[in-house]
Amino acid sequence: MKIIVLKFGGTSVGTIDRIKKVANIVVSYKKKGFKPIIVSSAMSGTTNDLIKKSRQISNNFVPSEYDVLVSSGEQISCSLIAGRLNHLGYKSQSWMGWQVPILTEGMYGFSRIININKKKIINYLKSGGIPIITGFQGINNKTRITTLGRGGSDASAIMCAKFFKAQKCIIYTDVDGVYTTDPNKLKEAKKIKIISYEEMLEMASLGAKVMQPTSIQDARLNRIDIEVKSSFIKREGTKITKRKNILGNKVIRGISFTKNDAKITLVGVKDKPGIAASIFEPLSKNAINVDMVVQNISADGKETDLTFTIKSDELLKTQRLISKNRKISFKELIVHKDVSKVSIIGVGMIATPGVTYRMFQALAKHNINILVISTSEIKISVLIKKKNTAKAISALHKEFELDKQK
Ligand code: ADP
Ligand code: ASP
Ligand code: MG
Repeated sequence: MKIIVLKFGGTSVGTIDRIKKVANIVVSYKKKGFKPIIVSSAMSGTTNDLIKKSRQISNNFVPSEYDVLVSSGEQISCSLIAGRLNHLGYKSQSWMGWQVPILTEGMYGFSRIININKKKIINYLKSGGIPIITGFQGINNKTRITTLGRGGSDASAIMCAKFFKAQKCIIYTDVDGVYTTDPNKLKEAKKIKIISYEEMLEMASLGAKVMQPTSIQDARLNRIDIEVKSSFIKREGTKITKRKNILGNKVIRGISFTKNDAKITLVGVKDKPGIAASIFEPLSKNAINVDMVVQNISADGKETDLTFTIKSDELLKTQRLISKNRKISFKELIVHKDVSKVSIIGVGMIATPGVTYRMFQALAKHNINILVISTSEIKISVLIKKKNTAKAISALHKEFELDKQK
């Protein structure tokens, strides 16, 4: 069977008119002889609205119930797509994750797909039908509904491509591909024709919303090629594939940035073995993701300062956990909410010396102060004041000649 997985994001199904367009795209594949499996997100704004409602009901909404609530948006968009396909004369039916079922493991809100029961969907495809599967969700071994983290429909699509052995997996979204940086932030951003899993994973993890990081990990592990395309205009998109398929690596492929980070500094922490573990233990137990960490070498061997970053919406919880942590003592806790992490990413930097210097020099030229630095083999990240984000992206885009992308 020529199975193809087509995933549509929130904006692509954001209005009735757009859902009609989505149905036309699906029909075009059907006419080409494909057997399409559709994965859809909720209509744009719906998931945010449901999350807001959960917070209005309780600031401690039970995670399992939260997943039941926030997964419901996808039911609406999927039945509307099926309804439109029926209207156009095609056999189509929607499936919620639990009806397939899509099996997941892990915490509520951040589950991962481990298996998809293929039987019903394959039979439906064989009968000529077009199955529409809700993204972002599944069911766990307690038969409770789970969700896959924000943007999780991407992971649903990749895992459908894996389990149904699809020939192609196309992610339809509101931009016509993956760009050197967010095209809605920098107008000079250029579309990348082909990008490796490794670079895409870094770009996504470091803030490029266009693909969910987990989905790229899943694609890489299972060697699933992805195409990212626009559902609005018919144009070639971006191919995400293995490094071997890419000729001539650029030094820097793209720039990512985060929007809502906060920096915490603990001043005058007692410098003794195990202190960092004592600070981070309660945060990890409460699923607070600590990102950049810097510990200064103490001058006198007695006290040190420790700085780390987290997402700003976890700031209050983090402050509370640190204040009531009896295992640590410090002189002062300083918080900066208005920070942003800007990262340059590229496998080409492995073999190219001087990239760090060029990055720092470009920022210095624009008077942008670096607060924290972190690096890995294929990325360099700096934490800066949030108000400098646009200036930094533009400076780095020019420095590494990303506007000359072919
Ligand atoms: P969908 O609802 O289709 O899943 P998302 O909103 O999750 O779409 O992702 C698409 C958005 O990602 C774009 O509108 C764009 O603003 C943003 N984005 C951030 N970084 C990039 C990038 N490097 N390339 C393309 N889009 C990006
Ligand atoms: N609707 C979900 C969200 O907004 C999943 C997705 O968009 O992929 O996060
Ligand atoms: Mg998305």
